[in-house]
Amino acid sequence: MNQTAVLVAPGRVELQELPSPTPGPGEIVVRVRAALTDGTDLKAFRRGHPKMPMPTPFGHEFSGDVAAVGSGVERFSEGDAIMAVHSAPCGRCYWCHADQENLCVELMETKILGAYAQQILVPRHIVARNAFVKPAALPYEHAAFLEPLACVVHSVELCAPRAGDLAIVLGAGGFGLLHVALLRTLGVRVAVVGRGTARLALARASGAEWVREVTLERESVNGVRAFVEEISGGRGADRVIECTGQVEGWHAGLALARRGGVVSLFGGPAPGSTVYVDTSRLHYDQISVLSPFHFRPRDVRRAYELLAGGAIDVSALISGRSGLEGIEGVFARLQRGEGVKYAVLP
Ligand SMILES: [Zn+2]
Ligand SMILES: [Zn+2]
Repeated sequence: MNQTAVLVAPGRVELQELPSPTPGPGEIVVRVRAALTDGTDLKAFRRGHPKMPMPTPFGHEFSGDVAAVGSGVERFSEGDAIMAVHSAPCGRCYWCHADQENLCVELMETKILGAYAQQILVPRHIVARNAFVKPAALPYEHAAFLEPLACVVHSVELCAPRAGDLAIVLGAGGFGLLHVALLRTLGVRVAVVGRGTARLALARASGAEWVREVTLERESVNGVRAFVEEISGGRGADRVIECTGQVEGWHAGLALARRGGVVSLFGGPAPGSTVYVDTSRLHYDQISVLSPFHFRPRDVRRAYELLAGGAIDVSALISGRSGLEGIEGVFARLQRGEGVKYAVLP
């Protein structure tokens, strides 16, 4: 049997004994060793998710051991420790051929959920393109960062900062902190604007040169702009990376970039949200706006290299650990703003 955490209603998780999956051709079954919490999981826990009708298994950032392989699988054998993401593009559609595999028409329909379980079935398209053998020295809970780090690799590639640039990261959650760590490896100077003393201390530990505690919902953007002007010699930020997913963050982001700068709107607000844009910023100040979504297989490979090679250390981002039975408590803590990411060890 496969003990699985099932989200049955907002705020309510039930442990269910489901039949163990059997791998079909090209598929593998992974015995999950570590699964991380993520903002999407928290959103689903809080209020449900349109793409995840309840009751539903959930959790999507994981690593583990191969428990069974289907016919035709050559890259993996039973007992291999592996790390994978929960999606892969089809390789056939217009977007896949246009080097925008992150927008593949099948991507969101063929992704898998259910990492908060003893076992998860990884389908053929993911096994073929977005799964790797985990180096023995890399802990499972670090290997499970493959997916969020792939998102961040894609984001940073799109906004293409140069060494010595000043980047403002809005939001000190998991994604904000992963951006700090990756930007530092590129020699970018980083300031983090966000909430929570503990998270901002982590931002510092991850290499942020400046941190500023601000609740963008409540404070005017002017205070933040003064801070950014101060640290940039009045010019504004070369790159702004918005990771709060709040409309207020998008507004702030657009206000903080220097003339000719780039604003990357990484955090996605609720569907249907609207933002107002000062057109003179876009035109006369020539601000470029990007909105990176998800990742391509090459971003996953790069994230794998960064984790496997030790270029990025994610250990400080794990705020605690729990078994499957403790998931409700973990999400309650996240809901109260405690911690960054938790490792579920099924
Ligand atoms: Zn496709
Ligand atoms: Zn994720």
